Amino acid sequence: MRPSRQAATGQVPDSRLLASVAEFTHHRDIDALDHSLVLSLAELVKVKTVTLCKRGESAQFPVDSIVVCTHGNGQGFVVEAVDPSPDDESVQTIIRAMETVSTVSDTTPAGLHRLVIPIRRDQAAIGALMLESDEALEGVRDLVEGFARIYCNYIALLNESERDKLTGLYNRRSFDRRLQRMLKHRRLRARALAEGHVERRQFPGDGPHVYLAILDIDHFKRINDTYGHVYGDEVILMLAQQMRTNFRQGDVLFRFGGEEFVMLLAAQDERTAHSALDRFRRYVDGHAYPQVGHVTVSIGYARITENDYSEIVLDRADKALYYAKQNGRNSVHGYENLSSTGELAPVALGSIDLF
Ligand code: GH3
Ligand code: MG
Ligand code: MG
Repeated sequence: MRPSRQAATGQVPDSRLLASVAEFTHHRDIDALDHSLVLSLAELVKVKTVTLCKRGESAQFPVDSIVVCTHGNGQGFVVEAVDPSPDDESVQTIIRAMETVSTVSDTTPAGLHRLVIPIRRDQAAIGALMLESDEALEGVRDLVEGFARIYCNYIALLNESERDKLTGLYNRRSFDRRLQRMLKHRRLRARALAEGHVERRQFPGDGPHVYLAILDIDHFKRINDTYGHVYGDEVILMLAQQMRTNFRQGDVLFRFGGEEFVMLLAAQDERTAHSALDRFRRYVDGHAYPQVGHVTVSIGYARITENDYSEIVLDRADKALYYAKQNGRNSVHGYENLSSTGELAPVALGSIDLF
């Protein structure tokens, strides 16, 4: 909790405003930035709550995450991540502001003044900020819109730093954060399903398990040596685009470096994960790349659970990839299957050797 230093709405001195912007943009982590944004706004204007809502990819329920800062009646502020619920009237109002990309200024069923400002990028909204107060909020509308614009610019920069320059896929640096985020969303979804807030069909293709796969282009050095780096880069770029179109939207794709890619896939079971990966391997095998022609890939994968260390699972998938490389390449192998048949020794904590 932080002590309350709120000014009356519409009476924020410039120096405090600048200090506040400097405060929330000093974060390099998106979750910390979100947290700091709602807190900074709550400290600046007289409100009961400030809510930041971010758009997700599901068409049925387009809310991905919610962070709320609540004023604890003179005791300071509390910031918390809240499960988005489609039954919530304020969530419905936020969705309306995002879909119409327009500000909503009304009163809540409890009689509070409410202001919902969409966070715009190009012609769409990537989220929204909602303020609820005992006092009229029209006087702070410009201020909140300004914060929304700064937030949007800053988040674009942070997102860029998580991307690989050549392919636009996520980079290795962002792996742990993305993995934790994926697992967290799955926990929230599972809870929402269990509590009956949403229906199964609202999460199409979402399986109960997550698999981590490492894909490596076979004999890539030869491609570079024969055709040159520019054509090598072209193959990497094209492969990344093919991964994007062949895997599901909810799957998370990374370029880990050179000609190595990592994927996080949600699947019903090992057989489903295997067949999705093998389908892609066959797709590459059957594709003619400009100038270079025939290219093949090897893939190793392992199941990841919430309590696994990511380094261990990466190592397991890497062992399965190594097995594929040692056994003819152009193939897909799963760590669990290889270790159950005795073809690979199990990887345990304390024996991690990263590739
Ligand atoms: P294997 O089938 O065992 O994977 O053989 P490989 O030749 O693909 O494996 P190796 O890891 O020995 O070689 C990978 C090569 O990828 C080495 C390096 O020259 C090249 N490489 C790494 N990063 C890039 C990149 O960004 N662009 C290009 N064009 N080549 C790269
Ligand atoms: Mg390699
Ligand atoms: Mg290779």
